[in-house]
Amino acid sequence: MKTKIIEIDGIAEAGEIIRAGGLVAFPTETVYGLGADAMNGAAVKRIFEAKGRPSDNPLIVHIADKAQIPLLAREISGDAEKLINAFMPGPFTIILKKQANIPNEVTAGLDTVGIRFPAEETAAAFIMAAGTPIAAPSANISGRPSPTRAEDVISDMDGRIEAVINGGSCGVGVESTIVDASGDAPVLLRPGGVSLEMIREIVPSAYADKNIMKTASDDERPRCPGMKYRHYAPKAQVVVVEGERGAVQDKIKELLSENTGKVTGVLTMYGNVYDSPVMICGGSSNKEYAKNLFAALRDFDKLGAEIIFAEFCEKDGYGAAVKNRLYKAAGYNIIHCEK
Ligand code: AMP
Ligand code: MG
Repeated sequence: MKTKIIEIDGIAEAGEIIRAGGLVAFPTETVYGLGADAMNGAAVKRIFEAKGRPSDNPLIVHIADKAQIPLLAREISGDAEKLINAFMPGPFTIILKKQANIPNEVTAGLDTVGIRFPAEETAAAFIMAAGTPIAAPSANISGRPSPTRAEDVISDMDGRIEAVINGGSCGVGVESTIVDASGDAPVLLRPGGVSLEMIREIVPSAYADKNIMKTASDDERPRCPGMKYRHYAPKAQVVVVEGERGAVQDKIKELLSENTGKVTGVLTMYGNVYDSPVMICGGSSNKEYAKNLFAALRDFDKLGAEIIFAEFCEKDGYGAAVKNRLYKAAGYNIIHCEK
């Protein structure tokens, strides 16, 4: 099977592929998703095969109309309703108790379902064209950085899926914020473009899960199954060097001089003061860094970097989202620099 690249004017065809049980990768404001008809268990199963994704890691169901929420979820609390009104459509996923007709393949047997309403127009048009909710994880091979450009989807998925809709670069660049609103107080399970502070302005009792910045241990059953797995890893080793500008730069210079035998890369946010064969600018704000991060990790691989030093400092509302992805990409190999 050759994967077809569909341009924006071919969205009707993408909808037909979904209705026939096929797989279509599509752009959203967060990252590219790998979609199948959420109501077709056999089609959803193919997503797991295409990605090499463990079957106990559930998928998010994407909608293009809030009227679809009660068809997918039961028991929508007052707090859940406030969050839906505040953040949907947008880079935000809400976990609610599921309706019985959602196939088990989507929810990995859980009693809950993750629902997202993307703001990106191409995504919404695609979901409308399919005429069914779309189950979709990120469109990468499991464990690799999420794709934020159509070419990244092709490099992982060519020959494994029917089509990809080419929508250029994703605006947010990291996956959606996930909030579990199926219990008493809402719990942040994954940071993203909607920050905990923004959520607390709507529901002050909301809090972050304790596993948010670390890997849940094997014997634990994490609330968000995705927490268990290594994520976002390029081929190169990644080391996060975080802290104040001068201290971070001095430390990276020292690390570069210790690694002259390797092809080194630096992911910068403070500017290029280094002598390293590969250098990519992440951006000077966390918002820019979020948009560029996954593409940068993939580009380091293409440029042959063997070890990447990533500058990092938490600066704005996107800080937690970037930190969560960077820490995972680095396998928690973090150097904290004091002044
Ligand atoms: P991905 O888009 O590839 O990051 O995958 C979707 C993420 O949503 C995974 O980390 C899942 O664990 C998480 N997720 C989806 N549905 C649920 C659910 N019902 N409860 C908790 N987490 C979920
Ligand atoms: Mg993913």
